[in-house]
Amino acid sequence: MSIKDNWQAVIGLEIHVETKTKAKMFCHCLASHFQAKPNTNVCPVCLGLPGAMPYPNIKALEKALTIAKILNCRINTVSRFERKHYFYPDLPKSYQLTQYLYPIGYQGKLRVDGNDYYITRVHQEEDTAKLKHEVVEGKKVSLVDFNRSGVPLVEIVTEPTFTTSEQVVKFLKQLQKILRFNQVSDCDMEKGSMRLEANVSVKNKNQTQLPDYKVELKNINSFRFLKEAIDYEIERQVKLLAFGKLISQETRGYNSKLKRTFSQRHKEAAHDYRYLLEPDIPHLFLSPEVIKAGSRFKDYDQVKKEWQAKGWPADVVEVLLTRADQIKWWQELDKAVPTRVAKAKLGHFLVKNKSRYYLKDIGKLIADYAKEQETVTDTKMIRQTIKQVIKDNPKAVVDWQAGKQQVIYFLLGQVRYKLGNLDVKSVIKEIKQQIDKN
Ligand code: ADP
Ligand code: MG
Ligand code: ZN
Repeated sequence: MSIKDNWQAVIGLEIHVETKTKAKMFCHCLASHFQAKPNTNVCPVCLGLPGAMPYPNIKALEKALTIAKILNCRINTVSRFERKHYFYPDLPKSYQLTQYLYPIGYQGKLRVDGNDYYITRVHQEEDTAKLKHEVVEGKKVSLVDFNRSGVPLVEIVTEPTFTTSEQVVKFLKQLQKILRFNQVSDCDMEKGSMRLEANVSVKNKNQTQLPDYKVELKNINSFRFLKEAIDYEIERQVKLLAFGKLISQETRGYNSKLKRTFSQRHKEAAHDYRYLLEPDIPHLFLSPEVIKAGSRFKDYDQVKKEWQAKGWPADVVEVLLTRADQIKWWQELDKAVPTRVAKAKLGHFLVKNKSRYYLKDIGKLIADYAKEQETVTDTKMIRQTIKQVIKDNPKAVVDWQAGKQQVIYFLLGQVRYKLGNLDVKSVIKEIKQQIDKN
């Protein structure tokens, strides 16, 4: 028994995702900011100039609603925005618009791998500008790019519902897949469209109430590093507690080279954000149309099962579903590619080949693929497969004996489904021989 056995970790997440919308949250500037020329998608509103009037983007709220629905939240159909005050060079207004009292979603949960994880709230806010630290003419400078300022951002806060880093990563991966599949967000950690914070504390196994402190892990932008940071943090805290020490409430970063967390700032008292109702935006009553549109999403696990049932391998399905904005070509392809074997081969080719496909490419794709297909000639394997197929389809045998000729083509289809391209004539001959033996 190690000292770890007496302790249990308590982990809660704060997740920010940029939703996929054309325009920013409170103005008409383009929301896409990755690799755009700095400070080109800006206006008085997102530059935070005095007197500018914010104008809420309903499409963004629809996406926030979709996230809340996906997470099985209760919904606030009245939205209002509050100003959350703090000073930082990436925030020219010195406040961020957010939903404080009435988050669009609250009290949700998501089931992953048989476990329910609880969601505190889902709310709409706006992103900040981006600071770039560079050296210009030999001097270290910080530059501000306002393209990201005012981009729709949704924050998802979980309850302290996790006990291990494995659970956290499973949950996050599933969330990422679902949101991408429903085209709510790209959830791309490298581009910053998904950002993660984990709050970690440790308690004695028999202690029922939550620890009265928490350590916030920030600025960690990969699942692997988040897992490493959480594991390191649990171990660090257990050691301190085992020696009777107190753990200070603070924010820590993660050094992935040294594989350890480090203190960034202490957080003794709560921030005073001085939330104030935004006076320039009226209360929004979401219309039935908006609620209907926002409530439309697909059950990722269900759709995944359906594609697998069509004969596509699970790993291929996972990747192709992330390209779901062009799912039509996949449906066409599915009709054109008959066998399980072909679906596996072609599927893995598509996955390796990162380009996106369109309906117009389908004909060529299939032709190219068909040219490469060899005919299966392993007679022993063919014979065994036929035997199995006949065994699996006793009704076909009965029908054949009753004189139904087309049964042969059904069985041929089953064999092709398992093996791929075949010399049809010789296979039909073999099927007839074997079925007659019954
Ligand atoms: P703050 O206002 O400081 O961000 P909140 O109470 O709103 O704090 O909690 C923020 C996050 O911290 C949530 O994800 C929540 O699940 C998590 N959390 C709260 N208490 C604990 C705890 N004792 N240990 C770990 N995480 C916690
Ligand atoms: Mg926090
Ligand atoms: Zn703008």
